[in-house]
Amino acid sequence: MRASETAEMIFDNCRIPDANRMGEIGTGFKQSMKVLDGGRISIAALGLGIAKGAYEASKQYAKERYQFDQPIANFQGISFKLADMATKIECAELLINQACHLKIKGLPMTKEAAMAKYYASEIAVEISTDAVQIFGGYGYTKDFPVEKFYRDSKLCTIGEGTSEIQKLVISREVLK
Ligand SMILES: Cc1cc2nc3c(=O)[nH]c(=O)nc-3n(C[C@H](O)[C@H](O)[C@H](O)COP(=O)(O)OP(=O)(O)OC[C@H]3O[C@@H](n4cnc5c(N)ncnc54)[C@H](O)[C@@H]3O)c2cc1C
Repeated sequence: MRASETAEMIFDNCRIPDANRMGEIGTGFKQSMKVLDGGRISIAALGLGIAKGAYEASKQYAKERYQFDQPIANFQGISFKLADMATKIECAELLINQACHLKIKGLPMTKEAAMAKYYASEIAVEISTDAVQIFGGYGYTKDFPVEKFYRDSKLCTIGEGTSEIQKLVISREVLK
């Protein structure tokens, strides 16, 4: 995620005019939580995009790369990985669509957004890891995009609340 700049910001004796205040005084925490619900859907979508990129690249490569006189896609060890990838991608997409649908309708979606974020980000890591494996030695080089998917996917299980925090949110919701 080299395009994501990370830097320290210090606000020292910083006064903000009342006209620039976002929302009502005393409701900051609630607002932050609401923003996080929406942000989680964005990170879920980011994870899904990475997963799809890794899957598409792997599928193509598996058909093109020949070993032992046949495309590596013929080996069950590879084709089953692609089957798992495709299934996980569809599951993540359905969870994201569900969270989006609730958000668009203005309905509560804390649990659904956390589930979508948790699942999509974890499968992005799994799928990009398998993608590097399918590419073999080339997967570890910068000649193909999968090494970037592998690096970038990890942010998704951390940013906008770690997977552990998503599980905290989900478990609180299901135990209500
Ligand atoms: C590239 C990048 C970009 C980012 N961009 C932004 C941004 O734009 N805006 C922004 O606000 N933040 C951003 N972040 C910060 C990100 O949201 C935090 O790093 C993330 O929420 C985790 O917080 P932390 O780093 O303080 O980890 P910590 O809270 O220190 O967590 C460390 C570990 O402890 C676990 N842990 C913590 N508390 C609990 C608990 N109660 N139960 C179980 N386990 C727990 C965590 O899951 C994790 O495994 C970015 C981070 C990165 C890496």
